[in-house]
Amino acid sequence: MVVPPLLRAVIMGPPGSGKGTISARIIKHFGMKHLSSGDLLRDNMQKKTEVGILAKSYIDQGRLIPDDIMTRLMLNELKGLDQYNWLLDGFPRTVAQAEALDKECQIDTVIDLDVPFETIKCRLTARWIHPASGRVYNLEFSPPKVQIFEELRLQIHRW
Ligand code: AMP
Repeated sequence: MVVPPLLRAVIMGPPGSGKGTISARIIKHFGMKHLSSGDLLRDNMQKKTEVGILAKSYIDQGRLIPDDIMTRLMLNELKGLDQYNWLLDGFPRTVAQAEALDKECQIDTVIDLDVPFETIKCRLTARWIHPASGRVYNLEFSPPKVQIFEELRLQIHRW
């Protein structure tokens, strides 16, 4: 039996370019595992792991996680996926991360989403993120089930 070669892919693009949506379609179509650095960090933050607590301190300041921490986390996660096709999303984000990834694996394809700035601006204006869960909504095509203003009222009330 001939085993087909494994596919290693990376998807890149600015926030609002549709990485999440397009990744979901690609992994379904090609039978791939999706590894998103942002999702992995949020999962660690929710579980309050050592790396999650550290990551939160950077994310809360709007900063990137240092390359060495991020690279170790992602490469370690990829070790568990060595029998699968995979699609990386959000990693690499810097040249140092790209170099570290390149040393460990051969990437077959990179998808770079080129979306006009005005389109991204419109999409991000309509994007809401639930801070507690990290869930992402869009007021136009994926609104939250709970009325947003009710949610905000409750949050303000809690403060
Ligand atoms: P995202 O969901 O991809 O926008 O990621 C959320 C946050 O996690 C980013 O704003 C960064 O602070 C952090 N992050 C995600 N991926 C990386 C990465 N490859 N390198 C450094 N920081 C990252």
